[in-house]
Amino acid sequence: MSGIFGVVSKNDCMQDLFYAGDYHSHLGASFGGIAIYGERLERRIHNISYTQFKSKLFEESQTLKGNKGIGSIGYEEQPIYVKSKFGDFCLVTNGWIDNWKQLADELFEGGHSFSEISDSRVNICELVSKLIVQKKSLIEGIEYVFSKIDGSVSLLILNNQGVYAVRDKLGISTLAIGEKEGSWTVVSETSAFPNLDYKVTKYLMPGEIVFLSPEGVQQKHLGQENQKICAFLWIYTGFPASTYEGINVEVVRERSGAALADRDDLVLDLAAGVPDSGTAHALGYAMRKKIPYRRPLVKYTPGYGRSYLPPSQQARDLVAKMKLIPIKDIIENNKIVLCEDSIVRGTQLKNFTVQKLWDNKARQVHVRAACPPLAFPCKYNCSTRSKEELVMYRAIKALEGREPEDISAYLDETTSEYNKMVSWIENDLGVTSLKYQTMEDMIKAIGLPKDKLCLYCWTGKL
Ligand code: SF4
Repeated sequence: MSGIFGVVSKNDCMQDLFYAGDYHSHLGASFGGIAIYGERLERRIHNISYTQFKSKLFEESQTLKGNKGIGSIGYEEQPIYVKSKFGDFCLVTNGWIDNWKQLADELFEGGHSFSEISDSRVNICELVSKLIVQKKSLIEGIEYVFSKIDGSVSLLILNNQGVYAVRDKLGISTLAIGEKEGSWTVVSETSAFPNLDYKVTKYLMPGEIVFLSPEGVQQKHLGQENQKICAFLWIYTGFPASTYEGINVEVVRERSGAALADRDDLVLDLAAGVPDSGTAHALGYAMRKKIPYRRPLVKYTPGYGRSYLPPSQQARDLVAKMKLIPIKDIIENNKIVLCEDSIVRGTQLKNFTVQKLWDNKARQVHVRAACPPLAFPCKYNCSTRSKEELVMYRAIKALEGREPEDISAYLDETTSEYNKMVSWIENDLGVTSLKYQTMEDMIKAIGLPKDKLCLYCWTGKL
C-alpha cells in the first residue's frame, strides 16, 4: 500500500505538505519522503518501517521552505530526483508495474542504468522516470508510460512551475484535488483535507492529467469514464474519514457490517471488530442487530503499523502479538461476533486474536469477514503476499491433497466446494463459526456498479 500527496500555494506550503503526508501514515509502509521547491529543489526520504513519518520528518519540516511540494508514503524510496531535458523534476508514484523486468531489460539494452534498487529489483518510480524522459514532453512521456506498463501507476511530478497530478489509466488508485484560498492539494486520501481546511473540488478520472500551479488547476489531458477502482480501499486499506468517488469509507464499512448481520440469526452478547479496519464493520453489525458494540481487544497504540507491513513474517507476528491487548472482563462468558476486514493468511487472526478471546474464556467466537475469501495476490499495488500464503489456497490444497489447479468452483459461494473450504478455514481458525461477506453484498455496500470496481483479489480477473 502506498499514498502520494502534493501541495501548491501562493505562500509557503511546507506545513500543509507535512500534515498531508502525516495523514497518509495509516498506509504505514517502508519509506516516507517529500520534495519541496523553494529557492531550490530539496528532497528528504526516511525509512519508516519501525517509526512514524511524523517523528522522522517533523524537525526537517521546520527548516524547509517552498510553495510547491510532493511526497509519498510507500514501499520504496521516493521521490526520485531527475535532471533531464525537461529541467529538474521530482517524481512520486503509487501503484505497481507487473512487467517491470521486461521494461527494465529494454532500458538496459538501450544503454540506461538504474541507481535506486528496492528488494533486488529496480525502483518502480525510477523506472517510470526513465520511460517519461524518452519522449518529447512530460505529457507525451506520461502517455508513453501508460502504453507500456502492465499494472497501474498514479504519479505526481514536481518542477519549478508546479505539480502535475496523474491518475492511473485503469483508475485502480485514486487522486482527489482539494482547494482552500490560495492553495491547492492533491492526495490519495481525502482524510488529509478537513483539518487542513481543504474542500474536495475534483476526483481525477482514470488517465486524467491536471497541473497545479499558484494560479490554480488546469486540465492537461482528459480522463476516461471506464474505471476499475480498488474495492479493497473501502473494505480495508482506506482511512475511515476518506472518501473516494464521493463514497465515504466508514459509511461503506457500516453498510458492510449490516449486510453481514442480515445473514445471521445468532444470539450474541456483543459485536467487536479487529482494530482498526474491522471496527466500523462491527459497528454496522451491532447497529443492525441492536446488540452492544464492545472492545474485548484494544489496540495499544496507532504506533503499531499494520501487521502485514513489516518486512519479515517474524516481525509481522511480533507486531500482531503485541498490539492487541485483551480485556478479560469484557470477554469472559460472552458470545462474541468478531468482524475482520479480510482474512489473508489467517495465522495472525488465529494465533494473536481469536486465541486471546479463548484464553480469556469467551463462550463463543463467531468470525465474520467483510469480503469474500482472498484468492489472488494484488497485481496492481505491491503485495507482500504470494498465492501460496493465502489461507484459501492452503484450504484447497489440504482438501484436494495436491497443488490446486482450477479453483473456480471454490470462488462460487453456491457450491459445495466453497462450503467445504469455509468449513476447513473455520476449523483451522478454531472458531465457533465463520462466514465471509458475499460478493453481491460487498459490492452493494460499496455502492458502485460491479464493472467500475477492481475485484481481482477475489476473481483473478480485472
Ligand atoms: S487486486 Fe485487490 S487490492 Fe489490488 S487493486 Fe484489485 S481489489 Fe485492490
